[in-house]
Amino acid sequence: MKMIGLIGGMSFESSAVYYRLVNEAVRERLGGLASAEVLMHSVNFEEIVTLQKAGRWDDAARRLGDVAAGLERGGAACVLICTNTMHLVADSVAKRIGVPLIHIIDETAEALKAAGARRPLLLATRYTMEHGFYADRMRARGVEVMVPDAEDRTATHDIIFSELCAGHVLDTSRKRMISIIEKAREAGADSVILGCTEICLLLDPAHLPLPGFDSTAIHARAAVDFALGHRPVIEKRTVAA
Ligand code: GLU
Repeated sequence: MKMIGLIGGMSFESSAVYYRLVNEAVRERLGGLASAEVLMHSVNFEEIVTLQKAGRWDDAARRLGDVAAGLERGGAACVLICTNTMHLVADSVAKRIGVPLIHIIDETAEALKAAGARRPLLLATRYTMEHGFYADRMRARGVEVMVPDAEDRTATHDIIFSELCAGHVLDTSRKRMISIIEKAREAGADSVILGCTEICLLLDPAHLPLPGFDSTAIHARAAVDFALGHRPVIEKRTVAA
């Protein structure tokens, strides 16, 4: 079994989910008391949020690149950035390491396509919904994402940062998110991406008005597939029209 390198702490609420999911998947597949070989470097999220708010993406890329390099030195055979938002700097981080970076957008796109979904609603932070890096990378893989309107994007972003990353899971916010998904279904969405690694704390992808794709679970599963040698990492060059 290969060692999985996790860049966590963004936020630690979702990193804890990753840790549980990779271990559960290894136990399910290997049986007995098997568990995953994991090396996690969990950062101070407050520092990263400060860089996000200031638009200092180059500094964030350097910081996460240093962390990724450290994971590789520690024996990680792959690296995961355990947040969708910080995939904004994933290409820079990948250049700092010689082992594969398992990319959350590529993995999510392939999961959608395997299920026949092509027009998903993206629920995520403002950075992920508005910056373009996510939609462009999905489009390159043949998936056209929809985003909520401005008011609903603000509500979603606020729920993520003020509640989920702070450990608060509220029924009112669950209802709000579900109404956003219902609106998107009426507007032609065929699925919904839980495109922030904390949203799975609020929404169960199996019980939504549209088929749900949880980026946290998809990403964690991809890491385990790689660690157990069941498949190679999806490469940029395998992009299909
Ligand atoms: N974990 C979240 C995501 O998947 C948001 C936290 C962050 O800004 O990195 O985007």
